[in-house]
Amino acid sequence: MQKEQKNEELMDSIVSLCKRRGFIFQGSEIYGGLAGTWDYGPYGVALKNNIKALWWKRFVEGRDDMYGMDAAILMNPRTWEASGHVSGFADPLVECAKCKHRFRADQIPVENAKTNKCPDCDGKLGEARQFNMMFKTHVGAIEDASSVSYLRPETAQGMFVNFKNIIDTFHPRLPFGMAQIGKAFRNEIAPRDFLFRSREFEQMEIEYFVDPENWKDSFEHFLKEVHAFNKDIGLDAGKVHELEVPDNERAFYSKRTIDFEFDFPFGRSELYGLAYRTDYDLKKHSEFSTVDLSYYDDEAKKRFIPHCIEPSFGVDRSLLAVLSNAYTEDEMGGEKRTYLKLAPSVAPVKIAVFPLLKNKPELVKKAREIYAMLKKEFGAVEFDDNGNIGKRYRRQDEIGTPFCVTVDFETIEKSAGVTVRDRDTGKQERIKEGQELIDFLYKTIG
Ligand code: ATP
Repeated sequence: MQKEQKNEELMDSIVSLCKRRGFIFQGSEIYGGLAGTWDYGPYGVALKNNIKALWWKRFVEGRDDMYGMDAAILMNPRTWEASGHVSGFADPLVECAKCKHRFRADQIPVENAKTNKCPDCDGKLGEARQFNMMFKTHVGAIEDASSVSYLRPETAQGMFVNFKNIIDTFHPRLPFGMAQIGKAFRNEIAPRDFLFRSREFEQMEIEYFVDPENWKDSFEHFLKEVHAFNKDIGLDAGKVHELEVPDNERAFYSKRTIDFEFDFPFGRSELYGLAYRTDYDLKKHSEFSTVDLSYYDDEAKKRFIPHCIEPSFGVDRSLLAVLSNAYTEDEMGGEKRTYLKLAPSVAPVKIAVFPLLKNKPELVKKAREIYAMLKKEFGAVEFDDNGNIGKRYRRQDEIGTPFCVTVDFETIEKSAGVTVRDRDTGKQERIKEGQELIDFLYKTIG
């Protein structure tokens, strides 16, 4: 119980830091919010972009067998009939007859499920019914059955429907993959746990096409690559766990699925998935569109529908994992401090530059020069002369800035260089402010 309470407090602290420091706000807050939506502020979007860029670098730019995509969010509704989402993308919903609150039947506490009592008011829960989670909309001016479309609930289908375009324009040989990052929408019955379960979120997905004879090699390869990516974004390996999804819980078309779970403050929960989806998707789209989506292997002289391995990552869940992993409270110089121990690769601000005192023009001038030089090299650099230096360090610690560079009197009077302070240890070292400083920072920031 105590642990649970502590974890709840930790989650509250993360949410409040995100709001206080301009990472993430409740969606449409001035109107009372919209459940399941979040707005990313300046530091949040920088952190998110860094995570996406590392993913793209590892899985697209860093390889020669991956084709990047950015497909439309609105798709021909036949897509979702073929994929099975129209008939099957549903969660079991129960409603309380008294307070009208709705719950996912598979997520209510066991006691309530047994007694059929509402977890909020003890009222009677109704029968479970299937609730389709796709957001419906209409395309064009006429709102009738023929104009119905959906906001995509996953990015994957945007790649399957472009499989033939990639084959025809690039003539790739198997194995090869398609990758994209984009928004997905799910009308979740009970959005919860901050970014963990929202109604609008982002995914980073890969559809990797293989000869079925070799699917295991590619599956093993991506298993390792997922862990390598977690390292890229600075997650502790000890907090990520593989869960082999048992036969009776896997989607019927999947022959193997591994969920990557993370120790979030609210418990161990799914971060990403890796699934062997067989030839299910391409076969279905072939059938529904009547377009041939087979592949001819001219070495093996055989024609077949490729099988697919799908590593699927949630951007927002990655970001929440990164934040939970980084959130630290300690004591420094006899004072309590809160800081984000972010990997420099994802930190929204890489370096902050300060003049020791705001009212000494020679310090400010020098600090501005160094700031301009570092900004040109590293981009995400901040200048700060607001408040005393201790306060500035704490402000930067709180947003996870790895280094603070300070111009003091010794910089000017003794040409002693600047001080560079390390976020985690608080230690400072003096470094000459030209190329030496740039080289030093490159070594750690990359
Ligand atoms: P869950 O079981 O938690 O609902 P899922 O198995 O339905 O997730 P997938 O359909 O495999 O999830 O989606 C791939 C990834 O997209 C997930 O691993 C997760 O990172 C992310 N994701 C899915 N649903 C949400 C959501 N509602 N909010 C934020 N991220 C999500």
